[in-house]
Amino acid sequence: GPAPVPAYAARLNPPQRAAVLATEGPVLMLAGAGTGKTAALTARLAHLVATGRAYPSQILCVTFTNKAAREMRERVTHHLGPQAEGLPWLGTFHSICAKMLRRHAELVGLQHNYTIIDTDDQLRLLKALIAEADLDEKRWPARQLAGLIDRWKNRGLNPADLDAVENEAYANGKGTALYTRYQERLKALNACDFGDLMLHMLNILRSHHDILADYQRRFRYIMVDEYQDTNAVQYLWLRLLAQGHKNICVVGDDDQSIYSWRGAEVANILRFEKDFPGAEVIRLEQNYRSTPHILGAAAGLIRANSQRHDKTLWTEVNGGDKVKVIGVWDAPEEARRVGEAIERLEREGAALNQVAILVRAQYQTREFEDRFIQIGINYRIIGGFRFYERAEIRDALAYLRLIAQPQDDLAFERIHNQPKRGLGAKALEQMHSHARRTGLPLAAAALQLADSDEMPKRSAMTIGGLMRQFLHWREASDTLSPADLLRLVLEESGYNAMLSADRSPESAGRAENLSELARAMEEYETLGDFLEHVSLVMDNDRSDAEETVTIMTIHAAKGLEFDNVFCVGWEEGVFPSQRAIDEGGLASLEEERRLAYVAITRARRHCTILHAANRRIYGQWTSSIPSRFIEDLPEEHIEQETTLTGGASLWRANWSEQDDPFAHVARDRPDRAQQRGPGWQRALTSGYDTKPARVRENTRSAASFAAPARSDIAIG
Ligand code: ATP
Ligand code: MG
Repeated sequence: GPAPVPAYAARLNPPQRAAVLATEGPVLMLAGAGTGKTAALTARLAHLVATGRAYPSQILCVTFTNKAAREMRERVTHHLGPQAEGLPWLGTFHSICAKMLRRHAELVGLQHNYTIIDTDDQLRLLKALIAEADLDEKRWPARQLAGLIDRWKNRGLNPADLDAVENEAYANGKGTALYTRYQERLKALNACDFGDLMLHMLNILRSHHDILADYQRRFRYIMVDEYQDTNAVQYLWLRLLAQGHKNICVVGDDDQSIYSWRGAEVANILRFEKDFPGAEVIRLEQNYRSTPHILGAAAGLIRANSQRHDKTLWTEVNGGDKVKVIGVWDAPEEARRVGEAIERLEREGAALNQVAILVRAQYQTREFEDRFIQIGINYRIIGGFRFYERAEIRDALAYLRLIAQPQDDLAFERIHNQPKRGLGAKALEQMHSHARRTGLPLAAAALQLADSDEMPKRSAMTIGGLMRQFLHWREASDTLSPADLLRLVLEESGYNAMLSADRSPESAGRAENLSELARAMEEYETLGDFLEHVSLVMDNDRSDAEETVTIMTIHAAKGLEFDNVFCVGWEEGVFPSQRAIDEGGLASLEEERRLAYVAITRARRHCTILHAANRRIYGQWTSSIPSRFIEDLPEEHIEQETTLTGGASLWRANWSEQDDPFAHVARDRPDRAQQRGPGWQRALTSGYDTKPARVRENTRSAASFAAPARSDIAIG
């Protein structure tokens, strides 16, 4: 009879199984959301190890988030036990490259304990260089230069690779020189930025054939999830490594390409068959995640994009509710509605960690945080560097970095007078000029200065004291756990004292954040491990065991799934974002629509979409109209509801057309309304009077309109 199917492959369907069994040669799995691409990749990983085709250390497996890597590792270990432990090359592009670079750092002029700087440090550094070049930072913002350098790095371009056009992109032809200076400064600081992790490794592989050959031999199998979001430098890096065995399996979905703003090129997945001739192409069509209405809504939405390859998705799942589309008065009401819905789910026995609120932009989270705190729903926020970006966390990290690496000038600069020690701008300037004169790192220069009599006595004593403390902490770091070291530093540096003396309402929160940081550090054995982790975590995610609702950006939700998903803020100017609308190009709007597709397809059982008629954005009351993406949803898969009562009477009196999300379309674009979906038709036939356009551009001040309307709601 047939051989028994191993547990890790037991429930796979035939095409998934084909992907698992096609171990040799290039394989492309191109399939829609929720079809089990990641599941198949995980089984494939288990299969390679279980059948002895490769040791765990011979498999390179790239996931999109650290969380995805963790889940994959857990699953494989669950099936195979200790023999699968390790999997040292399973992780994100950045974490894998950071690890490689530690081994070869000297080849690009770094030491193995180099620091990975974040955007804040990056900007500070660039500002200094811009000033040094006698450029006006107002005219040529550091942010712009940072963006350009990132883009160059994402494309695999070193300063020497820039052509005249690229060079002209900043400060009339100073781009290359500044990029060069920036790289030199980083080297001198024994640091690199995020983009360097990939670029340095690409450079090393390109110029050291022995090292490349070594990795090509080592990685018998290469797998990449979410391949549609690889950028040029990642693509080039992969292509080099795969040239050895050519056993490369990539999976992705062109409809979910949402990182072109970070240089991702969906073309990479579409030309895979050209790059790797003879690739086996596997398509999956059965969706195991969502109910038919959710799938139908998502499919209808993505069909509105012109630049795509059509895919069929079907499901065996039966029943389920329609996608709910709810219009509310304003953002607080939106949060209230979501809170109520979650409480209802909880009463019905739903698990809170199966609930996600997906936002388009980070600023949208606060309204939900406030509400959830008020009604006592546990939540966590995922996405970006949010936690690690807080000032007190950055201070603490700067102390730790300086302990780990005395050359870290940026860290020294950040904390030399934090808490206040009376070391003002003048003292810093003196230390800087001494550092320049002697070529010493700032901290060392400061110490030397303190021993000379060039400095006012008080400053000298303060610096001497601070440097002695650092020596002491550095010694302590040999014996203390990272978390205990942090506690010691916060106490002895006077940071805790500063916080307790601070009577502002935020200071309690700051202390809490620092305890949270210490808690996070408990998991790490060495300070170096922890600091590396911090520079790499893009998704600051805590354990999933906790019963909490997740609030996150759609970008961060990629690849994840939840029983209940709330898609909030579906309004023109929020989603699609104002920037995408302003750019006006098809490409940016289609990317926003793919993002909307990703959002809906995260839902397994219930998907609720909300839009508010009023929103305060950056302190301005704004009246908004429902997102065009709502318009794209086929009517048979959605159920509309509006709660515009009470305050809405005023609204209606002034803005009758606002009650119908599509009224403006009929007015502004009758031509399009004719040829488009049900909502547009409804708008055409419903006969609202057509007043002057009152769309988002029509921002009104709180005093003129929105404020009375809000008090109206509060009373009602
Ligand atoms: P995305 O495009 O969102 O990344 P995906 O294609 O990677 O989705 P998975 O996350 O791997 O899809 O799978 C979606 C869900 O379907 C998961 O809950 C997974 O456990 C389940 N699943 C995958 N394959 C099967 C199968 N053959 N039988 C039953 N359930 C499956
Ligand atoms: Mg996936």
